This record gives sequence, C-alpha cells and structure tokens, in this order.
Amino acid sequence: MAIFLPKKVIGNMFDHSLNLDPEEACGVLLGNKNQVSENIRIKNIHEEPLTRYTMDPNELLKITLESEKKDLDIIGFYHSHVYTQAYPSSTDIKEAITHSFGNPVNYYYILISLVEKNRPIMRAFKIDSQKNVHEEQITFDGDQYRS
Ligand SMILES: [Zn+2]
Repeated sequence: MAIFLPKKVIGNMFDHSLNLDPEEACGVLLGNKNQVSENIRIKNIHEEPLTRYTMDPNELLKITLESEKKDLDIIGFYHSHVYTQAYPSSTDIKEAITHSFGNPVNYYYILISLVEKNRPIMRAFKIDSQKNVHEEQITFDGDQYRS
C-alpha cells in the first residue's frame, strides 16, 4: 500500500539528513495506517555514524509514550545513506526483523540517499519476515506530476 507523506514531512526529512551529513540521520514516522502526519528526529548513537545508525532507545521510548497520548502510531522509520543508494542494506533488513519482533511488514522503511547532495532521493519500502524487500509508492499532498 502506498505511503502518504505530507510535503512538510518530506522537507523535514531531507533537511534532517542534509544537516547531519556526513553522519546518518534517523527517526520515526507517526501517523495512522499508511498516513504519516509527522516525523520525529532521533539521535543516532551508533559509534560509526558515517555508515551505520542506532536510534537512541531513551528517545524512542519517550516518543512511543507521547504518540499514544496523541492517538498516533509509529508506522515507520527513516534513515539516510550518505554514500550509498536509497535501498535497505543487508544490515537494515536484519535489524528491521529484529526491531519489529519478527513482524517488519507492519512498518514502512524510508531510505534517503545523499549520494548527490543537490538531488537527494527518498524511497519507501516494506520488508517481510522472509527478508524480501518491496518498494512502496510515496504519495503526497498537492499536485502530482504533470506531463
Ligand atoms: Zn541503512
């Protein structure tokens, strides 16, 4: 199912990623079902932040509790790749399965590639428990492509 990202969320994720470059940026997507309403930036605490990320577990816990109050769910995660394409690495796939208690398909995974700084790329994926990666369409508010 396509994921809906408001343009302000897309802008915020690109801004977050470019400002943290050359370190990887990471965060969560809050919303309902496939509709994102906001992204929350989370500190990358990995000791090799240039090529890896680990979301600060304290911030993640705090956001989980706050989102419940707002009636929003964590529906996905995002992170940037500074030197590689916007596609989940084998580590990303392994961690998606671990972090989701074996049900990664419940979440969207957004990848942002900063290989070309003036032309960053954002793609959305679902990952299943068999480690298959499926690309999902990204929809947004406002006019779509016109030919
Ligand atoms: Zn990655």
